[in-house]
Amino acid sequence: MFKCPVCKQTLNQEESRFICDQAHSFDKAKEGYVNLLLVQNKKSLNPGDEKGMVVSRRDFLSKGFYDVLVKTLQQQLCGLASHQKQLSMLDIGCGEGYYLRNITEQLRKTGIIERVNATGIDISKPAIQQAAKQDNSNTQYLVGSSHDLPIENQSQDLVLNIFAPLDIQETLRVLQPGGLLVKIVPGPKHLFGLKQHIYQTPCYHEEDEAVPTGFSIESCKLVKGHLSLENSIDIKNLLAMTPYYWNISQTTSAQINRLQQLETAIEFFINIYKKQQLT
Ligand SMILES: [Zn+2]
Repeated sequence: MFKCPVCKQTLNQEESRFICDQAHSFDKAKEGYVNLLLVQNKKSLNPGDEKGMVVSRRDFLSKGFYDVLVKTLQQQLCGLASHQKQLSMLDIGCGEGYYLRNITEQLRKTGIIERVNATGIDISKPAIQQAAKQDNSNTQYLVGSSHDLPIENQSQDLVLNIFAPLDIQETLRVLQPGGLLVKIVPGPKHLFGLKQHIYQTPCYHEEDEAVPTGFSIESCKLVKGHLSLENSIDIKNLLAMTPYYWNISQTTSAQINRLQQLETAIEFFINIYKKQQLT
């Protein structure tokens, strides 16, 4: 299912490493993940989310603040997968694995699917380290690029993509015909309460999510919730998960860090697309 990032041949999985027939070899880390990111595909020394951000996101999500999204995703995916015996699932940009871990747990628990082959990939090594450390199942975590996925053609039934960059051509390549792309993007009022502390006149997120080329739309669902954060640590962690973290002034950042309470809407679109069959 995995392919060598150097020569693109199939990787054979051994106990302590992945190796291709050309003898390109990639060791398993002690946490169980494999780093398949080639130096030439790195745009910086440590690409992707840095450790501080990963820890903030882990601490925030583990408190269940986005439960409304996780629960809806679990229901939707159990419904979608209910007719399958086996499911190959790839989370592109899985971060520290919170969503993938919760979704696969639920799919396995319901017994709907006898075998779930789950893979999580992210360009951030600290994120993948964290993901592998927290997941005791047989989900395989990989450090790798979403623009050059070390995954075999048409090997996946389902691709998950939650608040992360996505290369549509690569996604099409790894999905089998009729395979599904489950893509989560922010809804119009997502984190509006936080934005009110950042911008003089905050705007709603624009809904410009067009159906990606090569796919047809299966469904689009808007999930709504509300967050009441009661302490500065949760608020700081939330800010560190957002793109605003990088763009705001020190003054604004200091103001937000002093907040003891924050009320905000949270909204997510769950867009499900189907890879079109070739005619
Ligand atoms: Zn190779």
